[in-house]
Amino acid sequence: MESASIEPGKNGQKKRVAIIGAGLSGLVACKECLAEGADGGVEIAADVFEARAEIGGQWAYQAEPDPVTGELHSSIYDGVVLNSCRDTTGFSDFPVDPARHGDYFSHWQMHQYLLEYADHFNLHPHIRLSTKILRCVPNCNSSDGKPEENGQDTTWTVTFQGPNDKQPQERTYDAVISAIGYNTIPLVPDFKGLKENFKGEFMHGHYYRRPGRFEGKRVAIIGAGSSAIDIACELVPGCREVHLVTRRGTWILPRYVLGKPVEAWDNRATQIWMPGRLGEWLQQKLLDAVQGAHPDSLKPEHRLMQQNPTIRTEFLERVHTGLVKIHRADVEGFEGDHSLVLSDGTRLEDLDVIISCTGYHRDQPHLPADVFRGDDDEESGDGINLYKMIVPQRYRNLYFVGLSEQPGPAPPAAEAAARYVLSDKRSGPSGEWRRANFVASPRHNNTETYVPYIDNLLAPLGANPTMGRLLAPRLLFRNGGFLTGLRNLSAVYFDVTSNAQWRLCGRGANPELAVETILRTARGDKEFSKREKELLGIK
Ligand SMILES: Cc1cc2nc3c(=O)[nH]c(=O)nc-3n(C[C@H](O)[C@H](O)[C@H](O)COP(=O)(O)OP(=O)(O)OC[C@H]3O[C@@H](n4cnc5c(N)ncnc54)[C@H](O)[C@@H]3O)c2cc1C
Repeated sequence: MESASIEPGKNGQKKRVAIIGAGLSGLVACKECLAEGADGGVEIAADVFEARAEIGGQWAYQAEPDPVTGELHSSIYDGVVLNSCRDTTGFSDFPVDPARHGDYFSHWQMHQYLLEYADHFNLHPHIRLSTKILRCVPNCNSSDGKPEENGQDTTWTVTFQGPNDKQPQERTYDAVISAIGYNTIPLVPDFKGLKENFKGEFMHGHYYRRPGRFEGKRVAIIGAGSSAIDIACELVPGCREVHLVTRRGTWILPRYVLGKPVEAWDNRATQIWMPGRLGEWLQQKLLDAVQGAHPDSLKPEHRLMQQNPTIRTEFLERVHTGLVKIHRADVEGFEGDHSLVLSDGTRLEDLDVIISCTGYHRDQPHLPADVFRGDDDEESGDGINLYKMIVPQRYRNLYFVGLSEQPGPAPPAAEAAARYVLSDKRSGPSGEWRRANFVASPRHNNTETYVPYIDNLLAPLGANPTMGRLLAPRLLFRNGGFLTGLRNLSAVYFDVTSNAQWRLCGRGANPELAVETILRTARGDKEFSKREKELLGIK
């Protein structure tokens, strides 16, 4: 049986794992690798390689490209406030401190949280900063250079260069976890006439940092993802005109609904129990009641939670007041020095700036070029063919953490992916089963459902909190007796989806801390409980 797990090295020695990137995905992958040995699993020696001089990935803000390499990894602009809330965003066993963080907090605080996470789990000794992975090559014995069908023995030669290395270094690893994120290599469509005709400023949203220098300008933003909507709101006060061009439209959610963070209205009960359409219908009605009917110019064809919705409270007001003008059309091309022509015939004239919020390439330049391709995919296919968005079909002992996208915060899904990689080897699906279940998705659509996706990843570990598990005496009578157990059950199903719920049971469980966190979150307390502090080692 083939496995999606990291198994012991030969003769039971420590398994060596290379983790690429020290953003939140790489950090949690490292933490889970170290925990694996401590939990009585395979002992793993993890090396995390981070190209930048600091950890935190996107959240380590960069005002401008690196003066030496010219590279700009982070897309975070000054005004970023998280669009996932405090109580859903933390890691399962390191909750975000409610005494120091508002319901939604700043990117600076998110970075600080990741630094504290790395300190708490003592990850720093395993991280090599300013060390870029140049390439990873599988070592296998098959004649065509591809790993054999059951290629469990495949090792990886990893080439990297650190700050003091005159030459690239090589090292062999038993497995590689790639955690490089997907918001770094800007994707700009080949717009007709852009290079030849447009004389204004054209930039990708990746490079936007603050609104000041756009004051008095006429700006068109292409795209309607989170960054596009955020940037439009930031530009309105100072700009002469703000246009937003969107082909597909989008749903916009406010941060708060009836005084609660919007995520509080989409929980385990709505995602698991309610037939999909009914849950969405109810959420849609609630949203319409709070915001009014969604403007036709923005209404997308997909249903509310089918794709990651955008959270920005004041955007619809900007649209209704006409301060942001929506154009529901495709870009036809650039004509004249300062005009943008749209597919519905509209001509936007006198534009000073175009900000293209058109997404990112998801390339993995350090890995084999066909890493996302399944055996049956066409040579030129542009899909991401990964089992559970984690395991490639063609290569063994290679995993991706942090590549899936879901309507919800990134840390819980990245953590579940890391735990899945390290899960009991018997849980791994057979080659045949895996082939049957690979679903090719377009390169720009790696969206998964939230609670069901994480449950599915953690089911092999017994860590998905089913009703049966929540009613088991071990949990029901923990942390203070039967009533507490029932309260915990109700919070898991009906309150905001705390990541701690995936530490209640199964492999890697930390039920005492998890129950404390879940109940404190459900009570809406503005500080950790006394016991939570003790368990987290906070004075
Ligand atoms: C504007 C914006 C707002 C967002 N808001 C939210 C939010 O509210 N909530 C939320 O949950 N998420 C949000 N996100 C998503 C965010 O991307 C994730 O939270 C998170 O940063 C993903 O972490 P990651 O570790 O997968 O990738 P990254 O954070 O991108 O980290 C990848 C790391 O890999 C390193 N790396 C890359 N290539 C190499 C190499 N070859 N060798 C060595 N190191 C390498 C990079 O330097 C980087 O440090 C937002 C993103 C953006 C851009």
